[in-house]
Amino acid sequence: MSDCLFCKIIAGEIPSAKIYEDETVYAFKDINPTAPVHILIIPKMHIKSAAEITPENSAVIAHIFEVAALIAKEQGLDDGFRIVNNCGDIAGQSVKHLHFHLLGGRVFGWPAG
Ligand code: AMP
Ligand code: ZN
Repeated sequence: MSDCLFCKIIAGEIPSAKIYEDETVYAFKDINPTAPVHILIIPKMHIKSAAEITPENSAVIAHIFEVAALIAKEQGLDDGFRIVNNCGDIAGQSVKHLHFHLLGGRVFGWPAG
């Protein structure tokens, strides 16, 4: 997707602080962190949102959660962490390329706002 911010980050056209990369997944620091650890984990394939996950593309989602567990260990988040996905406008999804926020390093409230 040529006009997608996160596709441009994956392509290296826009700089990012890379944390992890493999054939199907890319992870980088959120530019506006809301926790001491705030990393975005995204599929390299352009999927618009969690509402667009299907049997055809869901393997990468399972892989994203493996990568999240790996990064959480590397970042020392031994006491726990939170994974957030905002899907659609009412949930506050501002970038229309599926992404999971990996948050850690502080205590999180519940229910989510
Ligand atoms: P969401 O609001 O769930 O769509 O999350 C989008 C996230 O992308 C926000 O937390 C932003 O801070 C983050 N973000 C936007 N632009 C960039 C960028 N160029 N590099 C890293 N993170 C970004
Ligand atoms: Zn994209």
